[in-house]
Amino acid sequence: MTEADPRRAIPRTDALLMLPPVRAARARLGEHVVRGVVRDAQDQARRGELNPDEVEKAVLETLSRCRATALRPVLNATGVVVHTNLGRAPLSAAATEALLAASGYVDVELDLATGARSARGVAARAALLAACPAAEDSLVVNNGAAALVLATTALAAGREVVVSRGELIEIGAGFRLPDLIASTGARLREVGTTNRTHLRDYAEALGPQTGCILKVHPSNFAVHGFTAAVDVSALRALATEHDVALVADLGSGLLAPDPLLPGEPDAATTLSAGADIVTASGDKLLGGPQAGVVLGRSDVVARLARHPLARAVRADKLTLAALEATVSGADAPVTRALHADPARLRSRAAQLAAAVGGTVVAHDGRVGGGGAPGVPLPGWAVRLPEAAAGPLRGGDPAVLPRVHDGACLVDLRCVPETDDPALLDAVRTALARIS
Ligand SMILES: *Cc1c(COP(=O)(O)O)cnc(C)c1O
Repeated sequence: MTEADPRRAIPRTDALLMLPPVRAARARLGEHVVRGVVRDAQDQARRGELNPDEVEKAVLETLSRCRATALRPVLNATGVVVHTNLGRAPLSAAATEALLAASGYVDVELDLATGARSARGVAARAALLAACPAAEDSLVVNNGAAALVLATTALAAGREVVVSRGELIEIGAGFRLPDLIASTGARLREVGTTNRTHLRDYAEALGPQTGCILKVHPSNFAVHGFTAAVDVSALRALATEHDVALVADLGSGLLAPDPLLPGEPDAATTLSAGADIVTASGDKLLGGPQAGVVLGRSDVVARLARHPLARAVRADKLTLAALEATVSGADAPVTRALHADPARLRSRAAQLAAAVGGTVVAHDGRVGGGGAPGVPLPGWAVRLPEAAAGPLRGGDPAVLPRVHDGACLVDLRCVPETDDPALLDAVRTALARIS
């Protein structure tokens, strides 16, 4: 390297690290992340890909794009309300506020009045019981699958779980309920057939070896034709007669009936019909964070809470806070999207279509997340050329449209109205890139 070598002009590491915006970035991002960005820019200059006097600008630009998480927010323009690949339920403003509030030290297991340890998640429990008075007690765990595993382990390990062959479902990504239950040390006792199960099938299977009767809502498919199933109220007498617990796995997490989804069971109705406990997900139709909710009789919930496995699947403070806020707050985004007014959806779609030169077409949304299969949610979408889908996904904000029938369909059902301007920008940018 000679005196005249331009590489001598590359800013030194310590000088770059002392720049005020870089110091601010070091307070937020890891030191190794910031040093890596600095080193990359210097290396680019050494290789002659960057002028030495452009290094500082490159470092600042890269740092301004660095986020604490690589997860990118996505505008869900698919019309699918509970979209598993997009993290299921988006949180409400109240739940988001609760997450922030719970991010530091909080009294999740402490009674501030006495300074003594308290039960965990008291506030989430109170919110759930207020929203579902049919339940005497509740327990929150990691997810719906954990709630089911805990229930069958605590009530039936070493014994049998009696379940209808028509309810042995696969919940997605290859996870099957029968495998899940078998992993708990309980034995599955299948009764009936795929399409028809009768009360006598259950009655014949019950005995001293029975741990519990399990009713599973086949949430992601529907069987039509020559079918029969036994409902919870009919199983109640049998469960009482044999003194075994009656567990209903609901999946979706509706706490009360929703007239829009008459086929979806809810916690209040199922408990009133005689289930000892119900299990459900927190992030499907309940609209909250990933969680598993157990609701029902206090003695049965207590058996679950006391089991050692409960400790391995317990919910963290962030989940408890967000769930409490979801249950006690205003309608969650999932509920709003489900009940979106079709006329309003149409006028928003018409506005977007007029601004970008698309056409408005009728488009049915879906509940998604393996819930309410086949139930259409009538609405509208903006039809764009299929080629727009890629640039939409790659844009900022990222937009996930539905690609169907040779077109790119932008459904506004799950896009909060406040995001309409951002969506319009994103669509304009995407269309400009394919024109
Ligand atoms: C979704 C679902 C589950 C699993 O719940 P996760 O929260 O995904 O773990 C279990 N049972 C039924 C009926 C479901 O629909």
